[in-house]
Amino acid sequence: MIKLAVRLWLLLSLAAAFGNVFVLAESSPAIRLAVDATQAPQKILRVHEVIPAAPGPLTLFYPKWIQGVHAPVGPISNLTGLKISLPAGWKFGTALLVENQSTSEIAFQSVALDCLLDSPLIAGEYYRVFNLTPPGEPVHHEIDVVSDSEAALAMSPEVQKGLTNVVAESGKLFGARHYRNYHFLLTLSDHTPHFGVEHHESNDSRLPERVLLSPLAPREVGGLLAHEFAHSWSGKFRRPKGLSTPDFQAPLQTELLWVYEGNTSYLGDLLAARSGMWTADDYHQALAGYAASLGPGRPGRTWRPVLDTAVAVAGTFTGGPDSGGWTSWRRGSDYYEEGELLWLEAAAVIHDQSHGQKSLEDFFHIFYGGANNGPELKPYTFDELTQTMNQVVKYDWVGFWNSRLMSVSPESPAGGIEASGWKLTFTSEQPAPGRTSRGISVSTFTIGLNLSREGVVSDVIFGGSASKAGLAPGMKVAGVNGRLFTAEILEDAIKASKTNSRPIELLVIVNDYYKICSIDYHDGERYPHLARNPDKPDYLDELLKPEAR
Ligand SMILES: [Zn+2]
Repeated sequence: MIKLAVRLWLLLSLAAAFGNVFVLAESSPAIRLAVDATQAPQKILRVHEVIPAAPGPLTLFYPKWIQGVHAPVGPISNLTGLKISLPAGWKFGTALLVENQSTSEIAFQSVALDCLLDSPLIAGEYYRVFNLTPPGEPVHHEIDVVSDSEAALAMSPEVQKGLTNVVAESGKLFGARHYRNYHFLLTLSDHTPHFGVEHHESNDSRLPERVLLSPLAPREVGGLLAHEFAHSWSGKFRRPKGLSTPDFQAPLQTELLWVYEGNTSYLGDLLAARSGMWTADDYHQALAGYAASLGPGRPGRTWRPVLDTAVAVAGTFTGGPDSGGWTSWRRGSDYYEEGELLWLEAAAVIHDQSHGQKSLEDFFHIFYGGANNGPELKPYTFDELTQTMNQVVKYDWVGFWNSRLMSVSPESPAGGIEASGWKLTFTSEQPAPGRTSRGISVSTFTIGLNLSREGVVSDVIFGGSASKAGLAPGMKVAGVNGRLFTAEILEDAIKASKTNSRPIELLVIVNDYYKICSIDYHDGERYPHLARNPDKPDYLDELLKPEAR
């Protein structure tokens, strides 16, 4: 999953135990499940399900621990199904194979229950499919797009080519595929939450309605879709043993999420850059943002090691009951970005130790390689991971990971960036907008404040200037230096702080009280960037070179 919010769909499971490998048990009778989506606009799905059962007590379970979300958040109010009738004229996309289809009813081929849960379906009045299969590629790839308007489906040839390049580059990066065919399922709507969830033969990604019409479309779409696609190898084909549970009632053991999500983040950003969906500058900007957010933006790294952010995710999951700001101190799901930076460091170590003869890609070819037997699951442990890395380059990989995963530091985890010939800097130059710089604004690395355009404070960097002045998440900024708040007026005040000896004065609403917070800050604008270290070769440049074109 790429960070975020609440899963909308969830499903029903039977008491019958089933394996994680997609093998249809011919001997057990099939569940019959029908969903009437004629009232979908009212958020009502009617379900008719036939469960074969023998006389005697029957226990029904509902999935609680959901793969990809990594937390016990399965809402019991939703369902997706094997047999679905849709509003007239609606079209659909899914990796499930159709058995037969009439005007109003589609029956899908029977699949094992875990395959059903791993195979979402999107449907809508406005639907279009684009082929993403690169020339010469034997496995079919496509993107199915549904949106709230016909106009929003207008994917540019540039984006279609970029996504086809993602598929082509993945073939080189992994050297193998483990699915029968692959569907990118993209929902474009301003009325659904925006996130992506991985599946073995598809991904369920949701973005704003008009994202494909934006000049930023490659940047906005590329990172998310490449990440979810990479999960087909990292997370679905290879999955940590603790996340490979026999049913949906067993708690997920999440300590290896720095691989499941961290390695996937590394792979996804690399594929986005190699495909041309991102420019090299977009990639550098993304790394700079991660490094800054985990350095000056994460005082919590002085007490909580990144491993603990993975172990504890079930309790700290974004959107869960404990989320309420101060993420900089409590830390969030940092195993994504910190994991990515650590995998970059591992790549640099392999390159250095082998004098350029080997790369992390050699590890990917062993770890994620093998014959394409369709969707299958091969669980792994930390020991197997480090043993496979030792097959590529003999090194103290156990010590490498343990020292980085279990230590605390106020410094940014920028070892991989530095070993690649770059360093994190802050300048007044504003980065180009887009997903690569998401969440970073003029106030983030200056006064240590994130807020909406309406002035509602979403978060404050613990111990930063705004924090010292008394600001906290949930407050609302109403005025800046005696004027009514706008984002632009706050930006002006931060710019002017460099030549102004007076503090920035914010009028803040705390519950139903007003309060003045004086922020003692005088360094002007600061945005994170990567700068070249001319003393070292540029290894990032080498990593980003496309292999399939
Ligand atoms: Zn993910």
